[in-house]
Amino acid sequence: MRPEPCELLVVGAGPAGLAAAFAARRCGLPCVVLECEYPVKRPLHSPPQDVELAWGELYAGRPPNVSREEILRHYYCFAAEQGLKIRQRESVQRIERDGEGFFVRSSRRDYRAQKVLIATGGFGLTRRLNVPGETSSRVAHRFVDGAPFAGREVLVAGGGNSAAEAALWLYQAKAKVTLSLRRPSFAPRHGATDAYTSVKPFNAAPLLALAERGEVKILFSSQVVEITPQTAILEHDGKRLEIVSSKIFALLGADPDVGLLRQAGAAIAADGRPVYDPGTYETTVPGLYVAGHLTRELHIPKALAITPKIVHRMAGARPSAEGASVGLDALARVAKALRRRSELVRLLIREYPLLRRPVQMADAANLMRDRRLSLAWRLASRYPLVLSVIRSIRAYAS
Ligand SMILES: Cc1cc2nc3c(=O)[nH]c(=O)nc-3n(C[C@H](O)[C@H](O)[C@H](O)COP(=O)(O)OP(=O)(O)OC[C@H]3O[C@@H](n4cnc5c(N)ncnc54)[C@H](O)[C@@H]3O)c2cc1C
Repeated sequence: MRPEPCELLVVGAGPAGLAAAFAARRCGLPCVVLECEYPVKRPLHSPPQDVELAWGELYAGRPPNVSREEILRHYYCFAAEQGLKIRQRESVQRIERDGEGFFVRSSRRDYRAQKVLIATGGFGLTRRLNVPGETSSRVAHRFVDGAPFAGREVLVAGGGNSAAEAALWLYQAKAKVTLSLRRPSFAPRHGATDAYTSVKPFNAAPLLALAERGEVKILFSSQVVEITPQTAILEHDGKRLEIVSSKIFALLGADPDVGLLRQAGAAIAADGRPVYDPGTYETTVPGLYVAGHLTRELHIPKALAITPKIVHRMAGARPSAEGASVGLDALARVAKALRRRSELVRLLIREYPLLRRPVQMADAANLMRDRRLSLAWRLASRYPLVLSVIRSIRAYAS
């Protein structure tokens, strides 16, 4: 069969892939998104305005944060309403440079794409314990449900929120839980500045309380070294400790899978992520781009803010000094601030789509705005005092 031609092929329908498809539709760039197991399934700790695809379209049933189900429903409905071309259960297996474009092989068909954007996320390769006895029957690297473990001894290994949440969930499902982490406490890893890499207080506090009452065992400064058919052997404070466990959950995080990029000839940096131009997100292979968690922008707000810009530039649009008009911009700022603060405003915006439109228009107009190109910015950069006054006023206003 002849490869299907397409202008832009996006791999992955997470927040970055969906934002790319939406931006491509807005600038008239024909685009196909291939997704191996849509929808995305990540627990979240973000408020709706940080992770929604268009302003005012997502609301949390239990504020301030949206649940995984709410965000999935929003992404699903948004893609359907906007008519985004997403082909589900179609996994991309190969990308090769082919003349001016790319040959792409998926699990269902072949494509001939002029440009390819890879947005496969940062969780492609699950980290393993790498200890003797780590078989699939004894160790799970994903946690889905606690119910099957009621009344059983379970070990959870890992120092992040995924491990902490699994331990709490298993406890609520009446499992006998031991949590093992290498760090001496729940505090962030040494030198970590990323809020998402520490255990959130709403996970840490109940776990510590349960540990105090002896209902959950927490082994700080410990490490699994071997797994036997009935137990797990740990090193804890320099000693060997054997604990009975019918199942071990190793929730140690994941790394991006850069296999497709390597195949296509793109350079990979020492941190395991692709080398790309920080302005355009083009890799070392011309026409091959990356977005989202696969890059060094690890969270959804960045994926939603940066990916449309990548696609606009691909479609030939240049960043400009102009954004939304002063009036529309001011209106959008006020509406955003009010939505954050007032329940009544949230309700009105949710009920009346017309109230959402001006802000969505301002966001669309501001998307390609580059403040560094504006006259005010250029003047201000020449005079550092003016720049610091402008910054102070903006900090005060926000
Ligand atoms: C426990 C946890 C909590 C988090 N909480 C937050 C939070 O509160 N706020 C926040 O902003 N961020 C949070 N994050 C990070 C957030 O999940 C990522 O920033 C976000 O998912 C990145 O979006 P993405 O589109 O780049 O990748 P992903 O959401 O990972 O999507 C990539 C998609 O590509 C698909 N794919 C992969 N390979 C192929 C292939 N070969 N062919 C076709 N499709 C493919 C995958 O199935 C997937 O759907 C959290 C992450 C974790 C693990």
